[in-house]
Amino acid sequence: MANLILILADQLTPGLSALEGADRDTDRIVMAEVHSEASYTNHHKKKLILLFSAMRHFASQLEADGYSVHYQRYHPDNTAQSLEQVMAEQIKAHQPERIITTECGEWRLHDIISQWHKTLGVTTEIRPDSCFIATKQEFADWAEGRKQLRMEYFYREMRRKTGLLMTPEQKPEGGEWNYDAENRRKWTGKPLAPSPFRIEPDAVTQEVIDMVEEHLGDHFGSSEDFHFAVTAADAEKALEHFIDYALPCFGDYQDAISDHEDWLFHSILSPYINCGLLDPLMVCEQAAQAWYTGRAPINAVEGFIRQIVGWREFVRGIYWLHMPEYARNNQLGNDRALPGFYWTGDTRMRCMHKAIDATRRNGYAHHIQRLMVTGNFALLAGITPDEICDWYLAVYVDAYDWVELPNVLGMVMHADGGYLGSKPYAASGKYIQRQSDHCSNCHYKVAKATEDDACPFNSLYWHFIDRHRDQFAKNPRMTMMYRNWEKQKPERRDALLKRANYLLDNLDSL
Ligand SMILES: Cc1cc2nc3c(=O)[nH]c(=O)nc-3n(C[C@H](O)[C@H](O)[C@H](O)COP(=O)(O)OP(=O)(O)OC[C@H]3O[C@@H](n4cnc5c(N)ncnc54)[C@H](O)[C@@H]3O)c2cc1C
Ligand code: SF4
Repeated sequence: MANLILILADQLTPGLSALEGADRDTDRIVMAEVHSEASYTNHHKKKLILLFSAMRHFASQLEADGYSVHYQRYHPDNTAQSLEQVMAEQIKAHQPERIITTECGEWRLHDIISQWHKTLGVTTEIRPDSCFIATKQEFADWAEGRKQLRMEYFYREMRRKTGLLMTPEQKPEGGEWNYDAENRRKWTGKPLAPSPFRIEPDAVTQEVIDMVEEHLGDHFGSSEDFHFAVTAADAEKALEHFIDYALPCFGDYQDAISDHEDWLFHSILSPYINCGLLDPLMVCEQAAQAWYTGRAPINAVEGFIRQIVGWREFVRGIYWLHMPEYARNNQLGNDRALPGFYWTGDTRMRCMHKAIDATRRNGYAHHIQRLMVTGNFALLAGITPDEICDWYLAVYVDAYDWVELPNVLGMVMHADGGYLGSKPYAASGKYIQRQSDHCSNCHYKVAKATEDDACPFNSLYWHFIDRHRDQFAKNPRMTMMYRNWEKQKPERRDALLKRANYLLDNLDSL
């Protein structure tokens, strides 16, 4: 036996660095569904199903390609319940020269694997992850010496590096780097939003659904109507579906929220990009091609590419630059517990109910729901970063620590003191009213702020502004908010704070 090659659930690509130079005759690939990975958070059932089924399909593909694969299926009675135990059993049985793996996406597991040369007593080679556009070192070099990191500048570097939407003269196509200002339209039902891409479960997926219901049935979310792709070939069909039907309107309605439509014009590709079924650069190249061939406008294509080569790469860079300390940040000093309705959707706030209910059914909510509804509420209510981060890590099919943590702790909760974003995304109910049609169906009144039926976001917004004066009053991007707060009559300010204090004491009953 030469090497044991460990492949993790989010590394499902034949181009994986751990597979480079693998010897089909002597090396043995190890893949395992283990309790420790399935249970370190309350993973959505659809996430467990997607990953276990995609792993089983990928293992079969490797076997068909001539590799020898040890695959452990999930069972509560397995003797090995963690990756380390699985590897220990395989080492005992096969006496490998080395373990080879690709660096993983979570600090927690990285920390464990990087000790294996000691804990398992076998040389462990951890290879770089080539499924990202920037290497960790490239990001670290770019960040070096900068006091504040801004996604926009890193994004431009990545555009230059990849040549995506760049002219031969190295200028941005269309003349602008960023068309975000055109991407804020409210959606009123027209044009019709496309149905999401669907694949019906095959026998392998159905077996996994039954197994998850039997052994992991107390996890969050619903396993019903599972329709995600679980192979690279089907994920590529999902990409084509997006480019044909949703990309043309992706830009215009990127920030829209709807009371009736869960998916709008979003790509729903993150579950596949994040587990290796789709390559991020290939996805962006195909989107760029849609612009060059006149199938989608520049604001849509640039906006989409920016999310992937900009935001996605940027948050990953920040994660690896600052973990594990980053996770301990709580610079706004939040100490409130997460209200129970985050798990049930049982709240009279229509926007929150809709976002959480979609999350429970689909394992998905789009970016603006995550940022400006569930995220905004947690920010205004002062929820502890630990609890809200764990919620986001649990409830989405695409959630992995490297992408969830900077988005939640940094972008949403501003708990890193503004390192990731120059100002908090705090907003009153007015923002949600502007971007959605929720408010007309809500128990609360968005035009009211202090009354018993007033929209909770309104007074909580001013409470946030007032209680964080020390942190934000001198921020040039927040001066206007403080001026508006101070302009209000003292009686009005008292009434707003009184209403907010009542809400904060009674969050669970909202
Ligand atoms: C609080 C919060 C938590 C989030 N948690 C996750 C998470 O756990 N996993 C995850 O993949 N994304 C996360 N995001 C980013 C973003 O919301 C999702 O990537 C997106 O909603 C996935 O749906 P989509 O594929 O339809 O995206 P689209 O709207 O179609 O966007 C295209 C792609 O861009 C990438 N992308 C867009 N925004 C971001 C971003 N801010 N960070 C990283 N990638 C981005 C994704 O790969 C996505 O597939 C989070 C955002 C917020 C505000
Ligand atoms: S009124 Fe307030 S709580 Fe209700 S949907 Fe609008 S923003 Fe949400």
